Amino acid sequence: MNNRRINRHEIERNLLNLRQFTFEVTDACNLRCRYCGYGELYEGYDERKSSLMSFKQVKPLVDYLAYIWRNGMADSYRPLTYISFYGGEPLLNMDFIKEIVTYFDSLSLDRHIIYSMTTNAVLLDKYMDYFVDNNFHLLISLDGDERAQGHRIDASGHNSFNTVFTTVP
Ligand code: SF4
Repeated sequence: MNNRRINRHEIERNLLNLRQFTFEVTDACNLRCRYCGYGELYEGYDERKSSLMSFKQVKPLVDYLAYIWRNGMADSYRPLTYISFYGGEPLLNMDFIKEIVTYFDSLSLDRHIIYSMTTNAVLLDKYMDYFVDNNFHLLISLDGDERAQGHRIDASGHNSFNTVFTTVP
């Protein structure tokens, strides 16, 4: 049996070279996909509470990371870190996302930061300009053609294919 314990130095080293930092910004969603991890398909599934992550909750962690990044030596000269947003549907908590992006930008870290998001794209057209202005990388969850998308339904049980397909440019 390996009794080796992770130590402070290893944690800091990993944080210094952190490649991706993902916020699960909400468990709320505007779709009801049949296979969703928050859905009834799974025994003991993680029920939705429609909770929204707040800036106040995560600021101490961001400040700690910024401290590590400023005071340590990463393996690469200018490390790259993806700041990612995930849900539920992250577009339902855009206030939080905008606050985090503004805060990271204000820290002027000597690090290449790319913002990214996984979204079902239902509300994408509402925020498109913002994502373009902030160079977001978007991962859109679309299962394929209309038939393949048939398990990704809205609260009324309708296939979300047309909504998503007409929203994505
Ligand atoms: S879009 Fe994602 S979070 Fe929303 S219901 Fe579908 S699988 Fe679940």
